[in-house]
Amino acid sequence: MKEKKEIKEVLGHLRKLLMANQETGLDLPFISADSLKSLDIKTDRDSKPSGQPENAESLEQLRSLIGDCRRCKLHKDRNNIVFGEGSARARLVFVSEGPGQDEDREGRPFVGKAGKLLTKIIQNGMGLTREEVYICNVVKCRPPGNRDPEKDEIGACIPFLKQQLNIIRPEVICILGRVAGQALSKKDFRITRERGMWHSYMDIPVMPTYHPAYILRNRSRERELKGDVWEDIKKIMKRLGLSKK
Ligand code: SF4
Repeated sequence: MKEKKEIKEVLGHLRKLLMANQETGLDLPFISADSLKSLDIKTDRDSKPSGQPENAESLEQLRSLIGDCRRCKLHKDRNNIVFGEGSARARLVFVSEGPGQDEDREGRPFVGKAGKLLTKIIQNGMGLTREEVYICNVVKCRPPGNRDPEKDEIGACIPFLKQQLNIIRPEVICILGRVAGQALSKKDFRITRERGMWHSYMDIPVMPTYHPAYILRNRSRERELKGDVWEDIKKIMKRLGLSKK
């Protein structure tokens, strides 16, 4: 038994060494993962921190990996996971904080009043369709009473967003509102201060703007806020080389 354990250790080190050599481009013999399977040998690359999702190659695969997720306490009150929707090849991804009541009921992002306003911005403002962009949230389950998602909930769910962005690799991310800004940028992110300026996330240019629900809640400033959003959207359009059709 002791000998077998030692052999496993030696082969495990050898495999790591060979993998490292492969990455340098050297043509050396390779011991495949399959050939080591019978000896139950694992390398660092095989292990994932517990609770972390596997890497997916497509949005469909990622959705199926998320499954009936219970990685954070938001699973308790949700009706539906709101994964996100749109094109897997979108040049522009909108990221908001989390689903609201309507979204939780339908399992789709931005379907309530705020959703209608976002759709108007996409269609009437940018001359695009919702199917041409991608819309998703930092957390995929509705926080009870529409409260802000908490740090542990964001921490549990954000790997899914990162994978979505990795799969899509958009040219621009548009952050909608403070909470998404804080999750993707920094704790002291303030939407009133940071909107309209270019930031970066995962090496992707980011433009933050007001959340449509914020505009709807501030009717007395609606004109001014809509004007600000339009300025931000124009910057995105310029970067994407878009002009309204
Ligand atoms: Fe899982 Fe995200 Fe829903 Fe939490 S919010 S249960 S991590 S899908």
